Amino acid sequence: MRTLTKDTINKIGEKVILMGWVDVRRDHGKLVFIDLRDRWGLVQVIFSPANKELLSTADRLRTEWVVKIEGTVKERPQGMQNPELPTGSVEIEATELEILSESQTPPFSLSTDGYEIGEEHRMKYRYLDLRRPRMKENIIMRDRIINFCRDFLHKKDFVEIETPIVSKSTPEGARDYVIPSRLYPGKFYALPQSPQQYKQLLMVAGFERYFQIARCFRDEDTRGDRQPEFTQLDLEMSFVEREDILNLMEEMLILLVKNSAPHKKISQVPFPRISYSEAMQKHGTDRPDLRENKDDKNELAFVWILDFPVFEKDQNTNSWTYSHNPFTAPKPEYLDNLMNGRDLDKILSQQYDIVLNGFEVGGGGIRIHKKEILEKVFKILGHSEEKIKKNFGHMLEAFENGVPPHGGIAPGLDRLVMILRGEPNIRETIAFPKTGDARDLMMEAPSELSGEQLRELGIEVIKKIK
Ligand code: ASP
Repeated sequence: MRTLTKDTINKIGEKVILMGWVDVRRDHGKLVFIDLRDRWGLVQVIFSPANKELLSTADRLRTEWVVKIEGTVKERPQGMQNPELPTGSVEIEATELEILSESQTPPFSLSTDGYEIGEEHRMKYRYLDLRRPRMKENIIMRDRIINFCRDFLHKKDFVEIETPIVSKSTPEGARDYVIPSRLYPGKFYALPQSPQQYKQLLMVAGFERYFQIARCFRDEDTRGDRQPEFTQLDLEMSFVEREDILNLMEEMLILLVKNSAPHKKISQVPFPRISYSEAMQKHGTDRPDLRENKDDKNELAFVWILDFPVFEKDQNTNSWTYSHNPFTAPKPEYLDNLMNGRDLDKILSQQYDIVLNGFEVGGGGIRIHKKEILEKVFKILGHSEEKIKKNFGHMLEAFENGVPPHGGIAPGLDRLVMILRGEPNIRETIAFPKTGDARDLMMEAPSELSGEQLRELGIEVIKKIK
């Protein structure tokens, strides 16, 4: 049975088998030392000159080779202990060594935090980059957070339901990633920008409380903390009002911080709430950073932004566009104005955003659940009858079949992990992200298709001449 590095401290005097990577090798005269690394940490291993054959194999070891070591756990003499290392009170006196796999010299150092290495390099060899403890901790924290949310929501009677990835374009404001259909040449699927319509349809279906760790795809020009695909904790509830969603989220986020980042301090509980107009007036942004001390790495300033306008003027076309998504309900007192097309710019919605330290970490809203209101919104947005039917016919039809009032929210997991880990970028929290310019350098995506694949799909590529 294999022993993990972290467990060696409880096995003084015992024979153990360890497996992992050679983190470093040090030669001290006739002795060879290695730090053996596994997912849980490091432990020091000594090869003594008593066994010549063993020592000569140990002499061949290089950084990142994978080895199996048998040996005895010894307490290190006083003064030789390393208080920096959790296993620093012990060392393994090796009696056997098997080389399981050799490694080339890594293209960059794995013992630093990695920030000094160019992204091109880190992404091409991501499997090596992920070996550094900082990256491991990021990915493990992500898992803990996901696990916490799953558990929290299951205890509140939510059901985790998967919705399709191969889907149809949803109008969430970004450009879709599209998939050509082989069976229906000239037709396309789209990857979902979010499961928005499916989750609303699950409310029509009577599930009442849904969540999903949902991958969302948006073909946007990539910016600092954007990625072609990112992950949301997507949820939706029936028979709720705004207050119910805000309270549920607040409870979850407070517990999540306590559970996954207990050293962090939330500046204000309950989370402050400010209106969109107040945020814009006072802070000039709808993502204000309300930390008291912006140098304090452990301060978390959550704030709810409420009362967004339903409609905004599109700067380019001067037509109306929605501020969150077309399904967001107006506040009840504005319903008359909406139905009569009056003072459209003053109509406030039941949208809410949760902002943390100046980043939007989630948004949602209470939805329109009446067909005629949704139709009216589409008309105000300038959609023709034909376009409404083509794009949203299924929603309008579903809305004729007994729809519960419902609403939801979708916190972005990548950003949440980024802030809780004090990382500068969401790419540090995703195992295999794309580069800032949307490439996967390790797999070399995007890539060209073969002529045969293109023929099968009925696609002809027109090369742009620049
Ligand atoms: N689908 C929305 C988004 O991606 C979230 C929501 O309204 O629940 O922003």
